[in-house]
Amino acid sequence: MSQRTYAFRKFVVVRDTEPDREPTCFAMQCAVCEEAGPLVESAKSSDAQGQLRADEAAKRQAAQWVPVHRREHPEHLSHRLIRTTPYRLVPGEWE
Ligand SMILES: [Zn+2]
Repeated sequence: MSQRTYAFRKFVVVRDTEPDREPTCFAMQCAVCEEAGPLVESAKSSDAQGQLRADEAAKRQAAQWVPVHRREHPEHLSHRLIRTTPYRLVPGEWE
């Protein structure tokens, strides 16, 4: 039986800004009954200002679910915005 040595590498979790990243998504959720509206993908932008504008547009679209939910549940007044943010593991130092 041969003996093997393996080197281990540390990985760091960082916000993913690569072009192939997962999209940032938004959804509104009712804080009373936990029902949530559809997940809305934000368009990817290569610059920070463009990304902020795309995120705001996606948040506004996600918020359109609130009045729809309120028609069925007029007593549900508290909601929360759910956001998904892409992260990636990047290789760091060898141990
Ligand atoms: Zn509700």
